[in-house]
Amino acid sequence: MNQQSQRMNILAARAVAEAVKSTLGPKGMDKMLVDGSKEVVLTSSGAAILSAIGIKHPAAKMIAEVAKTQKKEVGDGTTSAVVLAGELLKKAEELLDQGIHAAHIVQGYRSAGEKAVEILNSIGIEIAEKDLKNIASTILMGKLGDKEREHIVNIAVGAIKAAKEKDNILLEYRSGGKLSDAELINGIMIDLGKRLHPAMPKKVRNARILLVDREFEVKKVEHAKIDITDPKNLRAFAEYKEKILKIAADMVAGAGANVLFCQKNIDELAMFYLAKAGILGVRDVDKDVLEKLAKATGAKIVSNVKEVTPSVLGYAGLVEETKIGPEEIMYIRECRNPGAVGILIRGVEKGAVELKKRIEDLLSALERTLKDKKVIAGGGAAEVEISRRLREYAREMPGKGQLAVEAYAGALEVIPKVVAANAGLNPVDILVRMRAEHENGGLKSCLDVRDGKIKDAYAAGIVEPLRVKSQAIKSATEVANMILRIDDVLIAKGFGKEKAAEVPAAPPREDVTDFPAKKGRIDFTQMRAGL
Ligand code: ADP
Ligand code: MG
Repeated sequence: MNQQSQRMNILAARAVAEAVKSTLGPKGMDKMLVDGSKEVVLTSSGAAILSAIGIKHPAAKMIAEVAKTQKKEVGDGTTSAVVLAGELLKKAEELLDQGIHAAHIVQGYRSAGEKAVEILNSIGIEIAEKDLKNIASTILMGKLGDKEREHIVNIAVGAIKAAKEKDNILLEYRSGGKLSDAELINGIMIDLGKRLHPAMPKKVRNARILLVDREFEVKKVEHAKIDITDPKNLRAFAEYKEKILKIAADMVAGAGANVLFCQKNIDELAMFYLAKAGILGVRDVDKDVLEKLAKATGAKIVSNVKEVTPSVLGYAGLVEETKIGPEEIMYIRECRNPGAVGILIRGVEKGAVELKKRIEDLLSALERTLKDKKVIAGGGAAEVEISRRLREYAREMPGKGQLAVEAYAGALEVIPKVVAANAGLNPVDILVRMRAEHENGGLKSCLDVRDGKIKDAYAAGIVEPLRVKSQAIKSATEVANMILRIDDVLIAKGFGKEKAAEVPAAPPREDVTDFPAKKGRIDFTQMRAGL
C-alpha cells in the first residue's frame, strides 16, 4: 500500500470535517460565504458550506458527498455525519501510527458501525404525536430566534400532519413583511396574473370548487369542417360557439360550482358567461397546483363538461383574491381536512430564502419521522450511550478488532464534545459527566447547551429522528472505510495535466483547519449571526 497517498487522503478528508466543525450544534457559528459576485450568505448548514467551497481533492469530495446524501435522504444531520467521518479518520490515523494495518481498521469499523445501528434501534422509542414538535424544535435549535422558531415549528408540524408528505405542501416565498409573518394556509395559494374576468367576484365564501385539466373553449377544428373564409360560415360558427359555451357555463353553475380552476385556457366568452353566473374562474393554473388543489379541497379533476356533477366538486370555506405588495395572489382557505396545504414565507429576500431551505429540510426530516415513527434522545445522549455499549461489545472481541471498535466508540463522542466546545463549555468535563450518568443507567442523559446542564433529553424535549442518526452513522462509517481502502490515487489517462494540477496537496498536519478551497474565489470567515 502506498502509505503516503493514504495519509494525504485522510488529511484532505479531515480538513473538510474541520471546516464545518465550528457550526455543529445550537451554539455553533454561522459561516459567511462570499462568492465571486460578492453575494454574502450566512449559513450553518454543513451541506451548503461544502457545496459552496468548491472542493477538488477526490478524498475530500467523498466526504462532502456524505453531507449531500444526508441532506437528500433525511434533511438533517449533515454536519454530524461529516464531523463523525472526520473523527473516524483521525482515530484511524492513530491506529495506523501504532502499526495496525488499514484492512484491520476497516473490518473493525464495519462491525462497529453495524453494531452501532443495532444499538441505536434498540434504544429508539416509538413516536408520540407531541414528539413531532420537539423534533422540529430540536432541528431548528439555535438556527432561529426562540419566538420565530416556535412559530415555524407550529407551521411545519401543522403542515406535515395535514399533508403527510412533503410533496403535498406548497412552500412559497413572497417578498416584504417579516419572517414571523410566515403562514400556514389550510388550503393552497396560487399566483394570479391577468387571468380573471373583471366582473367576477373577488371573494367567494363556501366555495364549491370545480377543477378542469383541459381548455374551456370550443375548438374550430373539432366542430367545423367548414370554410372559415366564408363570412356566412364564420357567423354560424360564432353562434354555435356562443351557444355551446353558454350551455357549458350553465352546466357548471347547475352542478353548484361557484369557483372554477382550469389548467389551460378559458375562452373569453366563457369567462363572460361564468362571470354572469357569479362564478369565479381562473385559467392557466399549473398542473402541480391543480393536483394540490384537488387534494386540499377534495375535488375530482375533470376533463369534460359532461363529467361535471355535484360529486366532483371540492370545498373551501373561503376563496379570496388579494395582493401581497405588488403581486396578486389567491388564497383557497378553510378547507376541510386538506390533504395538501400551503406555507407562505415572508421577509427580506436573503433571510427568507435561507428560511425556505431550512423549512424544506425540516419538512423532509418530519416526513421521514412520520414514516419511521422512531425517535432518539438528542444532545449527545444517543452517541454517548452507543459509545458505552460499543466498548462493552469490544471487550468480547479478539485482538486488533477490539482496538478498532474502541476507536470507533471514541469517535462517536466527538459529537457531544464539539457541541459542548462550540457552546463555550469544557468538552472533557461535559463528556466525563455524561459518561458517568450513562454508566449509572441514564441512557437518555444529554447536554442541554441552553443552560449547560446534563439532563434527561426527553424531559427537555431534545429529541431527534432516529433515521437522521442511523443514516449519519452508516454513511460516515462507509466513507471513512472507503478512504482507508484507497491505496493510491491514480490519475486516469486523458485526465489532462491541467486537471491533475488542480488536486491540491494535503495541508500539513498542524494546519488541518485550512480547507481546500480555491484561493481568491471565496472568503470564508466565521461570525456569529442569526438569519
Ligand atoms: P447537523 O447538521 O448535524 O444537524 P446541527 O448544527 O443541527 O448539525 O446540530 C445537531 C446537533 O445538535 C445534534 O446532535 C442535536 O442533538 C444537538 N442539539 C440540538 N439541540 C440541543 C441542545 N439544546 N443542547 C445540546 N445539543 C443539542
Ligand atoms: Mg441540524
